[in-house]
Amino acid sequence: MPEPLDITGAVCPVPLPHNERIVLGHGSGGKMAADLIAKTFLPAFDNPALRAGDDGAVVEFPVGKLVVSTDSHVVAPLFFPGGDIGHLAVCGTVNDVAVMGATPLYLTVGFILEEGLPLDTLHRIVDSMRQAAREAGVQIVSGDTKVVQRGKADGVYISTTGVGVLPPGRMLGGAQARPGDVVLLSGPMGDHGIAVLAARGELGFETDIQSDCAPLNGLIADLLTACPAVHVLRDPTRGGVATTLNEIARQSGVGITLFEKSLPVRPAVAAVCEMLGFDPLYVANEGKILVILPREHAEQALAAMHNSRYGKEAVLIGEVTEAPAGRVLMKTALGSTRVVDMLAGEMLPRIC
Ligand code: MG
Repeated sequence: MPEPLDITGAVCPVPLPHNERIVLGHGSGGKMAADLIAKTFLPAFDNPALRAGDDGAVVEFPVGKLVVSTDSHVVAPLFFPGGDIGHLAVCGTVNDVAVMGATPLYLTVGFILEEGLPLDTLHRIVDSMRQAAREAGVQIVSGDTKVVQRGKADGVYISTTGVGVLPPGRMLGGAQARPGDVVLLSGPMGDHGIAVLAARGELGFETDIQSDCAPLNGLIADLLTACPAVHVLRDPTRGGVATTLNEIARQSGVGITLFEKSLPVRPAVAAVCEMLGFDPLYVANEGKILVILPREHAEQALAAMHNSRYGKEAVLIGEVTEAPAGRVLMKTALGSTRVVDMLAGEMLPRIC
């Protein structure tokens, strides 16, 4: 006769309490989803278009060209010194619209939530998005939430799409760098990438490096008001300053020469990079812009940036030349010249 099954200590699986954690029902489109919207998203992002609760947002739009940009955010960990995935999702898209010379106005957001994500974590992320949107002066007017099973996503992924208006007559772009232009950078390189890496606990020691993640539309508006002659604006995110400048050199068919002595890096970031064998030129930034404009406007542009909260450490880092077309070079501190190539693969995955 078989031994009777010992069931002492066995428990039936208890359904997850849906007021503490995300459950699959939150992505159902039914009552629980409506509850999540009413209690979590609406209070944080409240505006007439979102409140209307329709399939799409109807918004006012000024006269001018529409600029639209989209980005997905998969950063790990979700929270890091100086920011979190929510802050990043708003700032990243605001900045991509702003570097086109446009005024960002509206965002839409898509959340992929993992079953089991504490609702408290989601609330912190949403509140961070609310704060970033408020600072940037944009409204989050439409959104979507899906829930995937436990183990199928790292807590939360966030996609944002932003739209902005381009004032008549303004046209910035990566193809507009010209020989005789100079290259400005709004502050030190690599803070974001190294801050996220440190937050993963992979360095084996503590640092106080903070991500530079910030909405830059205010800085950009100040810059373009003071100095409309800007040819190119771009945020050097993944791949860093080196990769972004290579893209611009190719788009414009020009050469770009960097001055090693002028490249700004915080000592703590430089120290970590040296230990790990990283070049800060390739490390991601989330709160910096590259500005390319005619040399005669450089002082004016730097002065405008220095007066703005996120541009206080702006410096001139290089110049645009006729040749070698499509390449970035660097004059080293020792006086030699070397090629600065694009980032070949992925140096730091899951950084944004
Ligand atoms: Mg960008």
